[in-house]
Amino acid sequence: MTRRRLDDVRRLLVARRLDALVVSHLPQIRYLCGFSGSNGLLLVTRTTDVFATDGRYAEQVKQEVNGPRVAVGAGPLADVIAPRVRLRRGARIGFDPEQTSIAAMSRWRSSFRGAMFTPVPGLLDPLISVKDHDEIEATRRAVAISERVWKEVLPMVVPGVREMEIAARITFLHRLHGADGDGFEPIVASGPRGALPHAGASERRIRRGELVTIDFGCRWKGYHSDITRTVAVGRPSPPLRRMYQAVLESQLGSLLMLRAGVAAREVDAEARRILRSHRLQPYFRHSLGHGLGLQIHEQPRLAPTSSDILRDGQIVTVEPGVYVPGVGGVRIEDDVVVRPHGRDLLTSLPKDLLVL
Ligand code: ZN
Ligand code: ZN
Repeated sequence: MTRRRLDDVRRLLVARRLDALVVSHLPQIRYLCGFSGSNGLLLVTRTTDVFATDGRYAEQVKQEVNGPRVAVGAGPLADVIAPRVRLRRGARIGFDPEQTSIAAMSRWRSSFRGAMFTPVPGLLDPLISVKDHDEIEATRRAVAISERVWKEVLPMVVPGVREMEIAARITFLHRLHGADGDGFEPIVASGPRGALPHAGASERRIRRGELVTIDFGCRWKGYHSDITRTVAVGRPSPPLRRMYQAVLESQLGSLLMLRAGVAAREVDAEARRILRSHRLQPYFRHSLGHGLGLQIHEQPRLAPTSSDILRDGQIVTVEPGVYVPGVGGVRIEDDVVVRPHGRDLLTSLPKDLLVL
């Protein structure tokens, strides 16, 4: 499988007239050769590939890395790789400028003397964003773990409980039920804190009549789940209920637009159009969704400025939200596989307003 991915990279090298690509971003390394550790560097050339890591991973690479030649060494990893590959003088080596520090670049320049480094932002995105069967199944597994956690956490969402207690329980249960860990720190935002879309979890105690937005997800074999549900603790006021219904309508409406070939920004626009009809569009202040995979946020982006066209096999989130300062917020988020004629929903938790 990783062999095939490395060959896909080689085709990109030819198309972009590059002699090699240096890959330092760990999720991309994991995608291309299976390595899940914290220190590695991969060089893919038109004829070969070498993966380098340090001695801590000497055993792990034997189990995980499949495809490239492996070199275990000390010191800068580019120095470990350079003697093992033959590059012509003036070779063009592509790199991802968004994942490369200035310090790394200066090390690479001294390891690969005479090479020309060429920025190729997003070069691997088209490969990485389209998931194969195993990747979709891994995501499905991550979603299943998070949904089980959700059902076990719900009974503790009651007046008086602190947001942090709920977040801690989610983290604990993710691990208990077989996840690698949280995919990101759980967000638990109650009452007026719900108006902060990325609020984390605080010491605040939940009160009766409030909405609580919980955004959580885990990793399973590196693949992420990312789910948000907003619930009511006791009967919510009519304005909060209307907010909830508007976001739900927006989420369901934009989900219906999802299929391969559709412009991502059109899906985002549909979510905004529905919120506008409820006069809530000004309170929707982030993009509709994002790709999901070995990274929690990847391509494509479902946003007003996105130029992405959705493709069969991409996994995306659909997460409209409304955040009214001083009042509260609602967000509903599902994980979805884009298909030629529609979508395959990975999340299955109910979305009608749950009044606890
Ligand atoms: Zn989320
Ligand atoms: Zn998300």
